[in-house]
Amino acid sequence: MISQGSDDTSCMEDADKGASTSQEVFKQQLVQHLDWFAERGLTVSFWWRDDDATVPSIELEKTLGLSERFSVPLALAVIPNFASNALADLLKTTSQTCVLQHGWQHKNYQEKSLGEKASEFGWRRSEQDMRREISEGREILQGLFGEQFIPVFVPPWNRIGPLAVKTLRNMEVYGLSAFTWINHYCLPHIQSHLDIIKWKKNKRFIGWDAAMRRLDLQLCRRRNNNTEPIGLLTHHLDHGQGCEEFLEVFFSVTKQHPAAKWLSAKELLERADHDFNQSI
Ligand SMILES: [Zn+2]
Repeated sequence: MISQGSDDTSCMEDADKGASTSQEVFKQQLVQHLDWFAERGLTVSFWWRDDDATVPSIELEKTLGLSERFSVPLALAVIPNFASNALADLLKTTSQTCVLQHGWQHKNYQEKSLGEKASEFGWRRSEQDMRREISEGREILQGLFGEQFIPVFVPPWNRIGPLAVKTLRNMEVYGLSAFTWINHYCLPHIQSHLDIIKWKKNKRFIGWDAAMRRLDLQLCRRRNNNTEPIGLLTHHLDHGQGCEEFLEVFFSVTKQHPAAKWLSAKELLERADHDFNQSI
């Protein structure tokens, strides 16, 4: 087992007892996992989505800096109604960044008093309203970011209702990216799986053990089918030192390992589109 409380679906051996910190155990386990694929001539695809961009900030510049330094493509989910010219100018200076559409204005329309979870494109809105916002949002992002914009819709809070999915499907080609197991097969999708922030109470890094448990689950599943990429999900405004340190370690291990491949959202959308068309 990786650590106490680890998922018992783990396919990993015990960590080296000599590893003295959670970070070292994380590195060992990650390399061990990737070795399994390399020994069989297989690879695992990764991709990186960072959410809630609107304007330049020190935190965003650090995130873009990591992407450039490690040569890891970054898909930035931008909120169209608040997207600025300054953000467009900043992204033009980068070589690894593309832009995805993060809803319209990140506003919740669900009924909190009824215990409903937040969603901008949930089930409490008309098709007409959603279509108008999706369309205006896409025009804004295309105008600001040009070829850096990739037509992938990222619903705020990673939640989307069936009517919103149908609306997207009726609006020319659109990919969808949400979180983990919920896959909407009526659209090409690129899911995220590893959210590194603990959201309850004080926002902070989930910790090395939790990060390894989540990765362990995904990597074990890829042993049976390695076609779905593993999506890293970050939120630059809430990173702090813990998340920054994690990203440094995660990128340095995966970039040096032959079994790990970091792909861009553009490549993945093309792949998802191809898979989707084969499946219908
Ligand atoms: Zn968001």
